[in-house]
Amino acid sequence: MFAGRTARLAVSNDGEEPLELTVEPWADIHQILPKETCVVATHSPAGDGTGPGTSYGDEPFEVQHRPDSVTVWAYGHCFHLSDREGNAIYAYDYGCPAQNPAT
Ligand SMILES: [Zn+2]
Repeated sequence: MFAGRTARLAVSNDGEEPLELTVEPWADIHQILPKETCVVATHSPAGDGTGPGTSYGDEPFEVQHRPDSVTVWAYGHCFHLSDREGNAIYAYDYGCPAQNPAT
């Protein structure tokens, strides 16, 4: 049972063209097709209130938008990308506290 924190952010492409999604600080780039939604999830260990990447509390994400792309900063220890139905697209789970609870 994972006792830490999970945060999820759904990013939808409501436009007509593919949208570039960059997940930082991993600089991982994905395409969100028109009318598709990507869910970015990140985990933090129990008791770790502030994410390691931000100096503000209770802000697990930051979103930066440019005309044809969106950048999501995930302030946890990992990120997991899935579609709206929960099907995994990609994960950077090295050091993920939900999958490696002993570390
Ligand atoms: Zn994780």
